[in-house]
Amino acid sequence: MAKKYPVWNEEIETMPRNELQKLQLKRMQETVERVYSRVPLYKKLFDGAGVKPADLKSLDDLAKFPFTVKQDLRDNYPFGPFAVPLKEVSQIHATSGTTGKMTVTGYTKNDMKIWAEVMARVYAAGGTKKGDVIHNAYGYGLFTGGLGFHIGAHEIGATVIPVSGGLTQRQVTIMQDFGSTVLTATPSYALVLAEAVEEAGLDPKKDLKLRVGFFGAEPWTDKMREEIEKRLSLEAYDIFGLAEITGPGVSVECPAHNGLHIAEDHFYPEIIDPSSGEPLPYDTPGELVFTTLTREAFPLLRYRTRDRTVLHAEKCDCGRTVVRMGKIMGRTDDMLIIRGVNVFPSQIEDVLLSFAELSPHYIIYVDRPKDMDVLTVEVEASEKLFNQGRDTLKDMEGRVKKGLAEALFVSCGVNIKEPLGIQRSAGKAVRVVDRREL
Ligand code: ADP
Ligand code: ZN
Repeated sequence: MAKKYPVWNEEIETMPRNELQKLQLKRMQETVERVYSRVPLYKKLFDGAGVKPADLKSLDDLAKFPFTVKQDLRDNYPFGPFAVPLKEVSQIHATSGTTGKMTVTGYTKNDMKIWAEVMARVYAAGGTKKGDVIHNAYGYGLFTGGLGFHIGAHEIGATVIPVSGGLTQRQVTIMQDFGSTVLTATPSYALVLAEAVEEAGLDPKKDLKLRVGFFGAEPWTDKMREEIEKRLSLEAYDIFGLAEITGPGVSVECPAHNGLHIAEDHFYPEIIDPSSGEPLPYDTPGELVFTTLTREAFPLLRYRTRDRTVLHAEKCDCGRTVVRMGKIMGRTDDMLIIRGVNVFPSQIEDVLLSFAELSPHYIIYVDRPKDMDVLTVEVEASEKLFNQGRDTLKDMEGRVKKGLAEALFVSCGVNIKEPLGIQRSAGKAVRVVDRREL
């Protein structure tokens, strides 16, 4: 039996599902009305689809309404999708914009309160409370990670250290000297910190007080979780969110670690078939779609996240009745098609991390010399492996190649680098470099 911690918002998080659904319907009707009357983008989308706010009589009716996609937000950059005048907006964030124009999101005072509330639920899910010292290594700035974890820490009354990303050795000193008990970071940066802890000659069990960590903002596998838990001596919780919906706090694991509970009173989830757009039943994997139920400044209807996962609705051991989403299996747009075969970066990570001789830092390159897709993986050797010399490395490359070919059904080059041979990142790691369009 998993640990039991107090649920932050007992009334909502353990509400009987039929009551929760009533609340969701009422809020969804308000949202539909709000976007139709205030946001020209939605007026156009609704009219195009021939629907009116009054058509939403049940939760199932949502399927009649149009989707919103990232391009809609870009086309109305920066503030077109806002449902309030700018003077009512108290905070603005944006996504990194690595795949195009920035996506902008805004919050009213009340939106900020709700964000703090859902982040408090996140912390409480992992037993974090007043008295904890939270080492927040998510980036501060336009990215929602840093500030989201920051306001949630205040909401639960804990002490927060706004370290942000970077200056890694100093972070280790801070963790040790300030007695950090909770670590919040991207999983890839957590590994960088683990490395720095080892480099400083510290034993995380004895020299650090870390107890739990909340890791998210990028995909990570269960093998990565084991690695982080072992090397930092803490219990790792997966947390999910996206700037468009609110930032971190959309969902989080509980101590049962069997999926991430969604704050369903604020964010209504659907799973759809990504090609037909048809809604899929619980327990069937597909693309995750969200409708915000309480956002004032930036309400979104049926927003297609491109993330692939599955929803489960049965009650959890922890007592929560809100649905659980499975660990993100990747994005519908991060699937690589290599010579016609679908390959997900998470499959590659699973294979790489099954070799104890390798360290969990890697980059996947895709090239197309002469009309032929070529997949190459660069991964780091552990210190021990590297010191065994060239022949052992060559032999190891052969084994990894074989392991990948068996898992992916497509051949893949493997290049084992020296320790620290792969660039570290302080935020979200770049794991795939697709050079085919270049
Ligand atoms: P940015 O675009 O600036 O990187 P976002 O907050 O918009 O920031 O990124 C959200 C995306 O990050 C999600 O749609 C999802 O693909 C990914 N993500 C967030 N949390 C997780 C998680 N726990 N596991 C896997 N992917 C995640
Ligand atoms: Zn649970």
